[in-house]
Amino acid sequence: RIRKINECANLPAITKDGVEINLYLNIGDSERHSDDDVDKSTVEGVGLLRTELIYMKSSEFPSEEKQLYIYREILKDFSRDQSIVIRTLDIGADKQLSYFKMHSETNPFLGLRGIRFSFENEDIFKIQLRAILRLSNEKNIKIMYPMITNLDEVDRANSILDEVKDELRRENIPFNENIEVGIMVEVPSVVLMAEEFAQKIDFFSIGSNDLTQYILAADRLSETVGDMYDSFNPAVLRGIKIIKDAADKYGKKVSVCGEMAGDPRAVVALLSIGIKDLSMVETSIPMIKALIRNLNYQELVLLKNELLKCGNPEKVKNLLKEKIMYLD
Ligand code: PEP
Ligand code: MG
Repeated sequence: RIRKINECANLPAITKDGVEINLYLNIGDSERHSDDDVDKSTVEGVGLLRTELIYMKSSEFPSEEKQLYIYREILKDFSRDQSIVIRTLDIGADKQLSYFKMHSETNPFLGLRGIRFSFENEDIFKIQLRAILRLSNEKNIKIMYPMITNLDEVDRANSILDEVKDELRRENIPFNENIEVGIMVEVPSVVLMAEEFAQKIDFFSIGSNDLTQYILAADRLSETVGDMYDSFNPAVLRGIKIIKDAADKYGKKVSVCGEMAGDPRAVVALLSIGIKDLSMVETSIPMIKALIRNLNYQELVLLKNELLKCGNPEKVKNLLKEKIMYLD
């Protein structure tokens, strides 16, 4: 079975009835792992570049030049036409910097993290945006903001981005004038305001790790309520469905880049909801390709209503289990 899965590593992610699914990689740094055996040209690109790891490994905030150097290094195996989504710094809560003292808060997960930190530290945000924009002259780069909660935050981040673009124009530094900008869907307010957000952005990327913890009010790292933290909770699936519908209504792209995208049962659920773009760690690619190549898309579409009607995570998981039996 393992051999069969590994054989799929470099094959296309296409269902038995011919529906193509786009797979992307989640990347955190430039380190190579021994089990990295996926040919980069057999995925669509990078769905999530978690830039905070670069900041966490550094001993001070990395300069524009240093960032540019590291991004180039990380992305050197990707071609110009592969899509690369760079997420701006998502620091705070579980992700801390040794050289920067964060405010001490009772609930850091509900505090200054993600884009909120970037607004508080605009100079650091601008340096990163400059590096990302410069890179957009070399690769097919897209920008993504983490932990977006309110509509105004998209405007605020975009107006800082506009200032940085102006600066670069004045300095005659080239960048992609039409760079796409998207947001992570991690906070339930984005689901509830999905249609309004859809009109402001180029793409949504669903961060199911945080979205699950915030929809269910269950800490993703908790030892006491770990059982409650469950992405198969129908409330999470319905949230994803709402985002997908809003994206479709306004012709925007939507992908999933949380752990769900690399979990076979969750992938069955996501495909049935209509998600066709999945971003995951490299080690999940062979397994997910093997799964997709054994699925019948039309059957999954029929599963959707039944899935969304489930009242609890167990019912969801039982429904999904049948579809991946052959993998057990
Ligand atoms: C997520 O929240 O699902 C996500 C992809 O972001 P991170 O895991 O880095 O918080
Ligand atoms: Mg997150």
